[in-house]
Amino acid sequence: MPSKLYDCRTETYFNSKEEQLKERKRRDNVSQKIRYWLEPGGKMAEISSQETHRRIDEALAEIEDICDIEFIRVSDFRRARVRYFFRPQNQIPYGALGLAYRSKRYILMNSTRRIGLTQEIGERRVQTVAQHEMLHMLRWKHRTDDVAGQDELSIMDPYRLAKYFNRLDVYYLQKKFGKHRDRVNNETGAKGRKNRDGIPDRVFVPATLSKWGKQHRDDVAEGEILHDERDRLIAERDALVDPVARQQKQAEVLESLDKILAHNVKQVYSGAMWHAVNLYWTGTYGYRMDYYPPN
Ligand SMILES: [Zn+2]
Repeated sequence: MPSKLYDCRTETYFNSKEEQLKERKRRDNVSQKIRYWLEPGGKMAEISSQETHRRIDEALAEIEDICDIEFIRVSDFRRARVRYFFRPQNQIPYGALGLAYRSKRYILMNSTRRIGLTQEIGERRVQTVAQHEMLHMLRWKHRTDDVAGQDELSIMDPYRLAKYFNRLDVYYLQKKFGKHRDRVNNETGAKGRKNRDGIPDRVFVPATLSKWGKQHRDDVAEGEILHDERDRLIAERDALVDPVARQQKQAEVLESLDKILAHNVKQVYSGAMWHAVNLYWTGTYGYRMDYYPPN
């Protein structure tokens, strides 16, 4: 029976259990660097190749933000562990949006099926499919048995397109690939093992939260413009002495108020969505609620 310290890769023996563990960790780290390749010129229906590639890069960067995994894009497909090819619908079994062939180390993406990628409803579908198929390449299976309370779909739902990872996805990603990178002390900026503070070097912000945060900030800015406009109209009205001119200006003031009221519905909605999404993620490791991030 071979010694427990036997290293089958080098056909030698480790000197100690510690050395063996260290080597195992090093190899794990190597395996968590995943080289990927995107077929040049390859694209999804409705958007350009450049935009398709950008969305896939973004999708993989989002996985990096959640757990300690690193994606490296390479231009030589022979060096890649995962390759994304783009093929028309009639060349993809079941007409699927994406299919992962793990043993062949490639993913097929559907280049002709239209799924509203230029519209708001489809804006994250390339990302979702790219993430779903990448996780298949990393041996993940479909998941439909999420426990109650997971009101967001899993990225591994086989039938429906999730908007983003749900909390269980994040839990499993961190369980399998390790939690966030913690290589610096966030307060002092000191690097190295001894200086780790147990706090992720970069707090991950769910893409759905960013989306509503941006929408809400835009809405607030637009609201300020509308209020300035109304203040200006009121000042103009008050400066008028001619009753007819004053009445005309007053109509403009009221019209401006209507715009503000309609706008408020939008602004309140985006704010409420931000809070709902934020509440959902609260308590998830690596995510910290921060109302006032430093500029
Ligand atoms: Zn699947």
